[in-house]
Amino acid sequence: HADLAMYEAKAKGRNTFHFYSQELDAAANERLYIENELRIAIKERQFRLHYQPQVNSKTLEVIGYEALIRWYHPEQGFIPPDKFIHIAEATGLIVELGAWVLEEACGFSTQLQAMGKAGNMSINLSARQFKDERLISTLSEVFKRTNMPPHLLHLELTESMLMGNVEAAIAQLHEIKKLGVALSIDDFGTGYSSLSYLKRFPVDMLKVDRSFVKDIPEDQNDMEITAAIIAMAQKLQLQVVAEGVETKEQVEFLQKNNCFIVQGYFYSPPIAGSEVAAFCERLKLKQLS
Ligand code: C2E
Ligand code: MG
Ligand code: MG
Ligand code: MG
Repeated sequence: HADLAMYEAKAKGRNTFHFYSQELDAAANERLYIENELRIAIKERQFRLHYQPQVNSKTLEVIGYEALIRWYHPEQGFIPPDKFIHIAEATGLIVELGAWVLEEACGFSTQLQAMGKAGNMSINLSARQFKDERLISTLSEVFKRTNMPPHLLHLELTESMLMGNVEAAIAQLHEIKKLGVALSIDDFGTGYSSLSYLKRFPVDMLKVDRSFVKDIPEDQNDMEITAAIIAMAQKLQLQVVAEGVETKEQVEFLQKNNCFIVQGYFYSPPIAGSEVAAFCERLKLKQLS
Protein backbone atom coordinates (compact mmCIF):
# COMPACT_ATOMS: atom_id res chain seq x y z
CA HIS A 1 0.00 0.00 0.00
CA ALA A 2 2.76 2.38 0.90
CA ASP A 3 4.38 1.79 -2.49
CA LEU A 4 1.15 2.38 -4.26
CA ALA A 5 0.55 5.60 -2.34
CA MET A 6 4.01 6.81 -3.23
CA TYR A 7 3.54 5.91 -6.84
CA GLU A 8 0.28 7.82 -6.92
CA ALA A 9 1.83 10.83 -5.24
CA LYS A 10 4.65 10.86 -7.78
CA ALA A 11 2.30 10.50 -10.68
CA LYS A 12 0.16 13.27 -9.29
CA GLY A 13 3.21 15.43 -8.69
CA ARG A 14 4.33 14.88 -12.24
CA ASN A 15 0.92 15.77 -13.53
CA THR A 16 0.70 18.80 -11.34
CA PHE A 17 4.06 19.92 -12.58
CA HIS A 18 2.97 19.23 -16.12
CA PHE A 19 -0.18 21.31 -15.75
CA TYR A 20 1.69 23.97 -13.89
CA SER A 21 4.27 24.39 -16.60
CA GLN A 22 1.58 24.33 -19.27
CA GLU A 23 -0.18 27.14 -17.44
CA LEU A 24 3.08 29.02 -17.20
CA ASP A 25 3.61 28.60 -20.93
CA ALA A 26 0.13 29.87 -21.64
CA ALA A 27 0.63 32.85 -19.36
CA ALA A 28 4.02 33.63 -20.90
CA ASN A 29 2.56 33.33 -24.38
CA GLU A 30 -0.32 35.61 -23.56
CA ARG A 31 2.07 38.13 -22.10
CA LEU A 32 4.24 38.05 -25.17
CA TYR A 33 1.20 38.34 -27.41
CA ILE A 34 -0.12 41.36 -25.49
CA GLU A 35 3.28 42.97 -25.50
CA ASN A 36 3.61 42.69 -29.28
CA GLU A 37 0.04 43.78 -29.89
CA LEU A 38 0.51 46.76 -27.57
CA ARG A 39 3.32 48.10 -29.72
CA ILE A 40 1.12 47.83 -32.80
CA ALA A 41 -1.87 49.28 -30.95
CA ILE A 42 0.04 52.39 -29.93
CA LYS A 43 1.09 52.97 -33.55
CA GLU A 44 -2.37 52.24 -34.92
CA ARG A 45 -4.21 54.20 -32.23
CA GLN A 46 -6.48 51.41 -31.07
CA PHE A 47 -7.16 53.15 -27.73
CA ARG A 48 -10.01 55.34 -26.57
CA LEU A 49 -10.76 57.00 -23.27
CA HIS A 50 -13.99 56.58 -21.41
CA TYR A 51 -15.01 58.95 -18.66
CA GLN A 52 -16.75 58.05 -15.43
CA PRO A 53 -18.58 60.93 -13.74
CA GLN A 54 -17.93 61.70 -10.08
CA VAL A 55 -21.17 62.97 -8.64
CA ASN A 56 -22.02 64.94 -5.51
CA SER A 57 -24.90 62.81 -4.24
CA LYS A 58 -26.41 65.68 -2.25
CA THR A 59 -26.54 68.34 -4.99
CA LEU A 60 -26.46 65.95 -7.98
CA GLU A 61 -23.69 67.98 -9.54
CA VAL A 62 -20.91 66.38 -11.55
CA ILE A 63 -17.71 67.41 -9.80
CA GLY A 64 -15.40 65.65 -12.21
CA TYR A 65 -14.56 62.65 -14.35
CA GLU A 66 -12.07 59.82 -14.23
CA ALA A 67 -10.52 58.96 -17.58
CA LEU A 68 -10.21 55.18 -18.09
CA ILE A 69 -8.39 53.67 -21.01
CA ARG A 70 -10.17 51.32 -23.42
CA TRP A 71 -8.41 49.09 -25.94
CA TYR A 72 -10.41 47.91 -28.95
CA HIS A 73 -8.29 45.30 -30.65
CA PRO A 74 -9.18 44.63 -34.30
CA GLU A 75 -9.43 40.83 -33.72
CA GLN A 76 -9.83 40.38 -29.96
CA GLY A 77 -12.32 43.18 -29.47
CA PHE A 78 -12.33 44.93 -26.12
CA ILE A 79 -9.34 44.15 -23.91
CA PRO A 80 -9.81 45.47 -20.34
CA PRO A 81 -7.06 47.55 -18.69
CA ASP A 82 -6.41 44.88 -16.06
CA LYS A 83 -5.19 42.62 -18.90
CA PHE A 84 -2.61 45.01 -20.31
CA ILE A 85 -1.70 47.94 -18.02
CA HIS A 86 0.73 45.83 -15.97
CA ILE A 87 2.40 44.63 -19.16
CA ALA A 88 2.64 48.17 -20.50
CA GLU A 89 4.13 49.06 -17.13
CA ALA A 90 6.68 46.22 -17.12
CA THR A 91 7.84 46.95 -20.67
CA GLY A 92 7.97 50.72 -20.23
CA LEU A 93 5.38 51.20 -22.99
CA ILE A 94 3.19 52.84 -20.35
CA VAL A 95 5.23 56.03 -20.56
CA GLU A 96 4.19 56.62 -24.17
CA LEU A 97 0.67 55.32 -23.61
CA GLY A 98 0.30 57.38 -20.44
CA ALA A 99 1.40 60.54 -22.24
CA TRP A 100 -1.32 59.89 -24.81
CA VAL A 101 -3.92 59.40 -22.03
CA LEU A 102 -2.86 62.69 -20.44
CA GLU A 103 -3.09 64.65 -23.67
CA GLU A 104 -6.38 63.11 -24.73
CA ALA A 105 -8.00 63.64 -21.30
CA CYS A 106 -6.81 67.26 -21.06
CA GLY A 107 -8.01 67.92 -24.61
CA PHE A 108 -11.43 66.53 -23.76
CA SER A 109 -11.56 68.48 -20.50
CA THR A 110 -10.98 71.78 -22.33
CA GLN A 111 -13.82 70.84 -24.69
CA LEU A 112 -16.07 70.29 -21.66
CA GLN A 113 -15.00 73.59 -20.18
CA ALA A 114 -15.90 75.35 -23.44
CA MET A 115 -19.38 73.81 -23.14
CA GLY A 116 -19.68 75.21 -19.62
CA LYS A 117 -19.26 71.77 -18.08
CA ALA A 118 -16.21 72.30 -15.96
CA GLY A 119 -15.11 69.76 -13.39
CA ASN A 120 -11.97 67.90 -12.52
CA MET A 121 -10.32 65.45 -14.85
CA SER A 122 -8.67 62.54 -13.07
CA ILE A 123 -6.20 60.28 -14.75
CA ASN A 124 -4.44 57.20 -13.42
CA LEU A 125 -0.71 57.51 -13.22
CA SER A 126 1.39 54.37 -13.28
CA ALA A 127 4.46 53.84 -11.08
CA ARG A 128 6.75 54.12 -14.05
CA GLN A 129 5.28 57.45 -15.13
CA PHE A 130 5.41 58.78 -11.59
CA LYS A 131 9.12 57.99 -11.32
CA ASP A 132 9.93 59.24 -14.81
CA GLU A 133 12.08 62.36 -14.70
CA ARG A 134 10.28 63.73 -17.75
CA LEU A 135 6.90 63.73 -16.00
CA ILE A 136 7.01 67.39 -14.97
CA SER A 137 8.00 68.63 -18.43
CA THR A 138 5.43 66.35 -20.12
CA LEU A 139 2.73 67.79 -17.86
CA SER A 140 3.68 71.42 -18.58
CA GLU A 141 3.87 70.81 -22.31
CA VAL A 142 0.46 69.15 -22.37
CA PHE A 143 -1.08 72.01 -20.35
CA LYS A 144 0.25 74.48 -22.91
CA ARG A 145 -0.80 72.50 -25.96
CA THR A 146 -4.31 71.76 -24.71
CA ASN A 147 -4.99 74.97 -22.73
CA MET A 148 -5.75 72.86 -19.69
CA PRO A 149 -5.86 74.76 -16.39
CA PRO A 150 -3.54 72.58 -14.24
CA HIS A 151 -5.75 72.83 -11.14
CA LEU A 152 -8.48 70.88 -12.95
CA LEU A 153 -6.18 67.89 -13.44
CA HIS A 154 -6.13 65.26 -10.70
CA LEU A 155 -3.47 62.60 -10.82
CA GLU A 156 -4.39 59.31 -9.16
CA LEU A 157 -1.57 57.42 -7.49
CA THR A 158 -1.61 54.27 -5.40
CA GLU A 159 -0.17 53.72 -1.95
CA SER A 160 2.34 51.16 -3.24
CA MET A 161 3.83 53.74 -5.62
CA LEU A 162 4.52 56.03 -2.69
CA MET A 163 5.83 53.53 -0.17
CA GLY A 164 9.02 52.27 -1.87
CA ASN A 165 11.30 55.25 -1.55
CA VAL A 166 9.17 57.55 0.58
CA GLU A 167 11.49 60.56 0.56
CA ALA A 168 11.88 60.50 -3.22
CA ALA A 169 8.12 60.08 -3.58
CA ILE A 170 7.40 63.07 -1.34
CA ALA A 171 9.86 65.19 -3.33
CA GLN A 172 8.21 64.19 -6.61
CA LEU A 173 4.74 64.90 -5.19
CA HIS A 174 5.88 68.41 -4.28
CA GLU A 175 7.26 68.94 -7.80
CA ILE A 176 3.89 67.96 -9.25
CA LYS A 177 2.00 70.14 -6.77
CA LYS A 178 4.11 73.14 -7.85
CA LEU A 179 2.42 72.91 -11.24
CA GLY A 180 -0.93 73.39 -9.53
CA VAL A 181 -2.13 69.84 -10.17
CA ALA A 182 -4.25 68.03 -7.56
CA LEU A 183 -3.33 64.57 -6.26
CA SER A 184 -5.51 61.64 -5.21
CA ILE A 185 -4.67 58.33 -3.61
CA ASP A 186 -6.54 55.65 -5.56
CA ASP A 187 -7.76 52.31 -4.17
CA PHE A 188 -7.19 53.68 -0.69
CA GLY A 189 -7.08 51.06 2.05
CA THR A 190 -5.80 48.21 -0.12
CA GLY A 191 -2.13 49.07 0.17
CA TYR A 192 -0.42 49.85 3.39
CA SER A 193 0.65 53.41 3.74
CA SER A 194 1.26 54.24 7.34
CA LEU A 195 -0.78 57.05 8.77
CA SER A 196 2.32 59.03 9.67
CA TYR A 197 3.37 59.07 6.01
CA LEU A 198 -0.10 59.94 4.85
CA LYS A 199 0.24 63.20 6.75
CA ARG A 200 3.46 63.99 4.90
CA PHE A 201 2.16 63.28 1.43
CA PRO A 202 0.88 66.53 -0.10
CA VAL A 203 -2.27 64.90 -1.46
CA ASP A 204 -5.75 66.39 -1.82
CA MET A 205 -8.05 63.43 -2.04
CA LEU A 206 -8.52 59.81 -1.01
CA LYS A 207 -10.53 57.35 -3.07
CA VAL A 208 -12.05 54.62 -0.91
CA ASP A 209 -11.47 51.35 -2.73
CA ARG A 210 -14.45 49.54 -4.23
CA SER A 211 -13.68 46.41 -2.20
CA PHE A 212 -14.87 48.21 0.98
CA VAL A 213 -17.95 49.66 -0.66
CA LYS A 214 -19.27 46.67 -2.56
CA ASP A 215 -20.70 44.70 0.39
CA ILE A 216 -22.31 47.66 2.12
CA PRO A 217 -24.79 47.34 3.85
CA GLU A 218 -24.31 43.59 4.48
CA ASP A 219 -20.74 43.56 5.74
CA GLN A 220 -20.33 45.21 9.14
CA ASN A 221 -16.51 45.25 8.94
CA ASP A 222 -16.50 46.98 5.58
CA MET A 223 -18.91 49.59 6.87
CA GLU A 224 -16.66 50.30 9.83
CA ILE A 225 -13.56 50.51 7.66
CA THR A 226 -15.29 52.82 5.20
CA ALA A 227 -16.56 55.08 7.98
CA ALA A 228 -13.08 55.16 9.53
CA ILE A 229 -11.41 56.10 6.23
CA ILE A 230 -13.91 58.91 5.69
CA ALA A 231 -13.41 60.21 9.24
CA MET A 232 -9.65 60.08 8.84
CA ALA A 233 -9.76 61.90 5.51
CA GLN A 234 -11.78 64.64 7.14
CA LYS A 235 -9.31 64.93 10.03
CA LEU A 236 -6.51 65.30 7.51
CA GLN A 237 -8.64 67.77 5.50
CA LEU A 238 -8.64 65.59 2.45
CA GLN A 239 -11.53 65.23 0.06
CA VAL A 240 -12.92 61.73 -0.12
CA VAL A 241 -14.51 59.90 -3.03
CA ALA A 242 -16.14 56.48 -2.72
CA GLU A 243 -15.45 54.16 -5.66
CA GLY A 244 -17.66 51.42 -7.04
CA VAL A 245 -20.94 52.75 -5.63
CA GLU A 246 -23.71 50.65 -7.15
CA THR A 247 -26.77 50.98 -4.90
CA LYS A 248 -29.00 53.54 -3.24
CA GLU A 249 -28.25 51.93 0.16
CA GLN A 250 -24.56 52.55 -0.40
CA VAL A 251 -25.18 56.19 -1.30
CA GLU A 252 -27.27 56.60 1.86
CA PHE A 253 -24.69 54.94 4.08
CA LEU A 254 -21.97 57.18 2.64
CA GLN A 255 -24.09 60.30 3.11
CA LYS A 256 -24.74 59.38 6.75
CA ASN A 257 -20.98 59.15 7.16
CA ASN A 258 -20.29 62.47 5.45
CA CYS A 259 -19.05 61.24 2.10
CA PHE A 260 -20.97 62.94 -0.68
CA ILE A 261 -18.73 62.46 -3.69
CA VAL A 262 -19.31 59.09 -5.29
CA GLN A 263 -18.25 57.31 -8.42
CA GLY A 264 -19.87 54.10 -9.59
CA TYR A 265 -22.48 52.34 -11.66
CA PHE A 266 -25.26 53.78 -9.45
CA TYR A 267 -24.84 57.08 -11.30
CA SER A 268 -22.95 55.98 -14.38
CA PRO A 269 -20.44 53.50 -15.76
CA PRO A 270 -17.48 54.96 -17.66
CA ILE A 271 -18.94 56.45 -20.87
CA ALA A 272 -17.63 57.71 -24.19
CA GLY A 273 -16.82 61.41 -24.42
CA SER A 274 -19.73 61.85 -26.82
CA GLU A 275 -22.17 60.66 -24.12
CA VAL A 276 -21.03 62.99 -21.37
CA ALA A 277 -23.21 65.99 -22.28
CA ALA A 278 -26.35 63.83 -22.34
CA PHE A 279 -25.47 62.35 -18.96
CA CYS A 280 -25.15 65.84 -17.46
CA GLU A 281 -28.55 66.81 -18.89
CA ARG A 282 -30.21 63.71 -17.41
CA LEU A 283 -28.68 64.44 -14.02
CA LYS A 284 -29.96 68.01 -14.19
CA LEU A 285 -33.49 66.73 -14.72
CA LYS A 286 -33.15 64.57 -11.61
CA GLN A 287 -31.84 67.59 -9.72
CA LEU A 288 -34.98 69.54 -10.56
CA SER A 289 -37.42 66.77 -9.74
P1 C2E B 1 -9.24 52.29 -10.98
O1 C2E B 1 -8.44 53.50 -11.29
O2 C2E B 1 -9.46 51.98 -9.55
O3 C2E B 1 -10.62 52.52 -11.75
C1 C2E B 1 -11.88 52.10 -11.29
C2 C2E B 1 -12.31 50.83 -11.98
O4 C2E B 1 -13.56 50.40 -11.42
C3 C2E B 1 -12.56 50.98 -13.47
O5 C2E B 1 -12.25 49.74 -14.09
C4 C2E B 1 -14.08 51.23 -13.52
O6 C2E B 1 -14.66 50.90 -14.76
C5 C2E B 1 -14.53 50.29 -12.43
N1 C2E B 1 -15.81 50.70 -11.83
C6 C2E B 1 -16.29 51.95 -11.67
N2 C2E B 1 -17.48 51.95 -11.03
C7 C2E B 1 -17.76 50.66 -10.78
C8 C2E B 1 -18.88 49.99 -10.12
O7 C2E B 1 -19.83 50.61 -9.66
N3 C2E B 1 -18.82 48.63 -10.05
C9 C2E B 1 -17.77 47.92 -10.56
N4 C2E B 1 -17.80 46.60 -10.45
N5 C2E B 1 -16.71 48.51 -11.17
C10 C2E B 1 -16.71 49.86 -11.26
P2 C2E B 1 -11.43 49.65 -15.44
O8 C2E B 1 -11.83 50.76 -16.35
O9 C2E B 1 -11.52 48.25 -15.92
O10 C2E B 1 -9.94 49.95 -14.97
C11 C2E B 1 -9.27 49.08 -14.10
C12 C2E B 1 -7.98 49.68 -13.61
O11 C2E B 1 -7.05 49.84 -14.68
C13 C2E B 1 -8.13 51.08 -13.01
O12 C2E B 1 -8.59 50.99 -11.67
C14 C2E B 1 -6.73 51.60 -13.12
O13 C2E B 1 -5.93 51.11 -12.05
C15 C2E B 1 -6.25 50.96 -14.42
N6 C2E B 1 -6.35 51.95 -15.51
C16 C2E B 1 -7.42 52.28 -16.27
N7 C2E B 1 -7.10 53.26 -17.17
C17 C2E B 1 -5.80 53.56 -16.96
C18 C2E B 1 -4.88 54.49 -17.56
O14 C2E B 1 -5.20 55.29 -18.45
N8 C2E B 1 -3.60 54.48 -17.06
C19 C2E B 1 -3.20 53.65 -16.04
N9 C2E B 1 -1.91 53.71 -15.60
N10 C2E B 1 -4.04 52.78 -15.46
C20 C2E B 1 -5.32 52.73 -15.90
MG1 MG C 1 -8.35 55.34 -10.67
MG1 MG D 1 -9.56 52.78 -7.82
MG1 MG E 1 -7.65 49.84 -9.24
